[in-house]
Formats: sequence, structure tokens, C-alpha cells
Amino acid sequence: MKRLIFLGPPGAGKGTQAKRVAARLGLLHLATGDMLREAVDQGNELGKQAKAIMDCGDLVPDELVIEMLMEKIAGGKRGSGFILDGFPRTRVQAEALDKRLGKAGVQGVILLEVPEDELIERTLARGRSDDTAGTVGNRLEVYRQQTEPLVGFYDRRAIVHRVNGLGDISGIEQQILAVLTMP
Ligand code: AMP
Repeated sequence: MKRLIFLGPPGAGKGTQAKRVAARLGLLHLATGDMLREAVDQGNELGKQAKAIMDCGDLVPDELVIEMLMEKIAGGKRGSGFILDGFPRTRVQAEALDKRLGKAGVQGVILLEVPEDELIERTLARGRSDDTAGTVGNRLEVYRQQTEPLVGFYDRRAIVHRVNGLGDISGIEQQILAVLTMP
């Protein structure tokens, strides 16, 4: 059973690639950003709490995101692996995941690397409600401060695969698949 994490700054292409690779490998695609946007659209309690935070590009509190994701993992088909896209984003989230899956639970981390000027261009072109010039800078800053240290956290287990996120979408997908099927 494969359990993978896709890591990288906003605009690196995590969502696009995680979706494609999950379909290709028969894994569940679990994207916390998508789940949160769904909650906002539904206008439920979680959505109400998350909306303003997402709009300014900050992180939704760990306990809310952890509970939401753990429910999805529990509700997934038995025995099916998954790709986490946009989770964990903090050390607390990474530790909660370890607790849930056990230390050997995460088999691989794909780190998508893209230069900063390209990230800004891509995010602004996406046109999501939290993709404004004002919030993109903050999301990058939040990534550098809170999420990027997770690269070191997983590097210590030697499970991080760095993939160049520049280029055409299917070429990048092929690189990821090659890395994941390496013996
Ligand atoms: P994304 O679609 O992954 O770019 O996420 C969009 C927004 O949802 C982020 O800017 C955060 O406000 C929120 N979000 C998504 N995943 C998480 C997470 N794991 N922890 C905290 N906030 C999150």
C-alpha cells in the first residue's frame, strides 16, 4: 500500500500532479485545500471558520485540518493507498500523521521545486479567490516559515524525492512516476 506526500510551495503544481499520479497509480487523492474549499461552499461550521483565514493566505488551525483529514483517511476504501496534497503543512500536522500511520507509514515525499518568480506568475494566473497579489506573497512566506522545514523532517528518513516542477505537465508526471517506481 502506497502512502505518499506531495510537498512544495503554492503554485508548484502539487494539485495538478497529485491528481494525475493518483489516477495513474490507483491511489486516493486527498487534498486538504479542496476539502476546505468544499466546506466553505457548503457553508458548514468548518467552512465558516476557515474562510477568512484562507482568504488572507494563512493556515487554518492544525486541530481543524487534522480532524478533517483523519476522517477522510478513515473513510477511504480499505487497503487503498493515498496521496496527500497540501498536508502536512506544519510540524504539528506531520507529527499527527506519524501518530496515525506509524513512522513507516509515509513511504515517499515528492518535493516539487519551482523558482519563486515562476510561482508568483502561476498563482496569479490561476485566479482562485485566494490568489490575489496581496495573498500570494503571504502564502509563500507562510510556506517558507511553516512548511518548508518539513523537507528536513522527512529528509532525515531519506524519503524525499526532489522533482523539477518546471516544464510541461506530462513530462513532470513522467519524472514523478519514474521516481516512485524506482526499485
Ligand atoms: P491549497 O489548495 O493547498 O493551496 O490550500 C488553500 C488554503 O487552504 C491554504 O492557503 C490554507 O489557508 C488552507 N489549507 C489547506 N491545507 C491546509 C493545511 N494542511 N493546514 C492549514 N491550512 C491549510
